[in-house]
Amino acid sequence: MPICANAKCKSVLSKSRLPGLQYTFNPYIGCGHGCLYCYVPDLFRGKFPIWPANVAVKEGALDKLRSELGRSKPGVVGISTSTDPYQPVEANLKIVRASLRIFKEEGFPISIQTKSPLVLRDLDILRGMDAEVGFTITSHRNEFGERFEPGAPAPTSRLRALEGVSGSGIRTWIFYGPIIPGFNDSEEDIRMIVEAAARTRSRVLYDRINLKPLVRLRLGAAIPKEGMREISLFDYGQLYRKIEEFCRERGVSCSPAF
Ligand code: SF4
Repeated sequence: MPICANAKCKSVLSKSRLPGLQYTFNPYIGCGHGCLYCYVPDLFRGKFPIWPANVAVKEGALDKLRSELGRSKPGVVGISTSTDPYQPVEANLKIVRASLRIFKEEGFPISIQTKSPLVLRDLDILRGMDAEVGFTITSHRNEFGERFEPGAPAPTSRLRALEGVSGSGIRTWIFYGPIIPGFNDSEEDIRMIVEAAARTRSRVLYDRINLKPLVRLRLGAAIPKEGMREISLFDYGQLYRKIEEFCRERGVSCSPAF
């Protein structure tokens, strides 16, 4: 994955309207996980031609973060909400890791959502700070990941990482989404996710596929035309009731993500 090291940016900390977050901190643009269903490229369309082939690092991200935090009231910060914070480049660059130290020093609670066991590397910092870690777990079958999340760690490795983070005493949650009807909405998928949530005392947030134009285009390469039609007409009400029923049975707290 090529890296563009000098994406200019005015700021790295933004006010957030995402549920439960007062701020977002995004040091990267682009994501090496390259999920076919990712709708972030639609949001950045026309602004960053590098997406999704390359990943850019915002210039001076950590210095900017320090000075912006100094001018901000404490509040929960979502770490890298428009890319996966633990995408492959983070293994070498360690920008998210360095940012966690800063948030800890400055007393800002943080919230992470990832698909990668790389987050386990940073448990030494996350322990003892006000932090929660969410894992996106889309299916119990790794074939789902191979088909739709070609650059991301396998779903089963995310499950093991979830157990590791939870076992170290950090609050965890599961993002079950996007749900793509016919591919990861089986009873088996739902039960596996709810059981994992029960074992790790995680809450579950669930969400449907968001068929924005670029998502349609990329998914079209992996799903036949008729399948795409069925997905766009799917009624999620019954499925959501089933998720909630399974969660109730196992005493797991769950809700729609948005
Ligand atoms: S991990 Fe998240 S941000 Fe990265 S490509 Fe997949 S959906 Fe998009």
